[in-house]
Amino acid sequence: METRVVRGYHIHIYYDQRDGPGAASALSDAIAERFDVEIGMWRDKPGGPHPAPMFQVNFAAALFADVVPWLMLNRGGLDLLVHPETGDDVADHGDHALWLGQTLPIDFDAVREFIEERRRREAAGAVG
Ligand code: ZN
Repeated sequence: METRVVRGYHIHIYYDQRDGPGAASALSDAIAERFDVEIGMWRDKPGGPHPAPMFQVNFAAALFADVVPWLMLNRGGLDLLVHPETGDDVADHGDHALWLGQTLPIDFDAVREFIEERRRREAAGAVG
């Protein structure tokens, strides 16, 4: 079995569009207050692979044992996707993923499209 290096983790904090971003935003702030994390993008509607609006938080692999147990106790009923960054985006959002709360349907075609797009951009950059 192949072992991959985990460079870091993402947390995607999903919320119901009808409830608004309040609780998810507050949770994202609370994580940032306690831990040395980077606040990533905020999507105010479903899009790309994400089936619901969400906040993203990124953190170093070494913080996993601090951040994730805290979230287990403090996620406030929100659905969270915690996934490693190994360089394989499809596996990271699928087979490698950890869900707290409900498992939501990730659109893997959108993940593959994103990877293709990135490849095209990188190829174009290498030529130019
Ligand atoms: Zn992610």
